[in-house]
Amino acid sequence: MSNLKLCQGTRCHTYFTKDRVKGTAPNKTNQTRRSSKFYYGDGNFCSTQCQNDWLNDFADKAINHFGRLTEPKHLTEETAWVKDYNYNGYRNLPDEHYYHNKITREKRPLTEQQYNDSNYTLNER
Ligand SMILES: [Zn+2]
Repeated sequence: MSNLKLCQGTRCHTYFTKDRVKGTAPNKTNQTRRSSKFYYGDGNFCSTQCQNDWLNDFADKAINHFGRLTEPKHLTEETAWVKDYNYNGYRNLPDEHYYHNKITREKRPLTEQQYNDSNYTLNER
């Protein structure tokens, strides 16, 4: 069995590139791309064009299925903490890890272990 995935772009087969042409005349066809790995849309699309084609066709249905945002979201001082770090490797110094509040601009130091712990957060959810 092949591990190749098909691009989910709804019009992928309509774009003319050498790699999409399969077979020989008179049975030549232009086909949807296959690959073991795609880099767009969480690994589902061969290009941003194919991703955009799919979104134009299905974004409305997908949003309605998974829940349409009906109220604006608010980033508050309590939820605006993001992890960040300064890379100091080029000076042979350890990297500096910290929490940064995107609203107040306050910085609080973190250990590298806290930085790497995805459960460690200052945000109150
Ligand atoms: Zn495609």
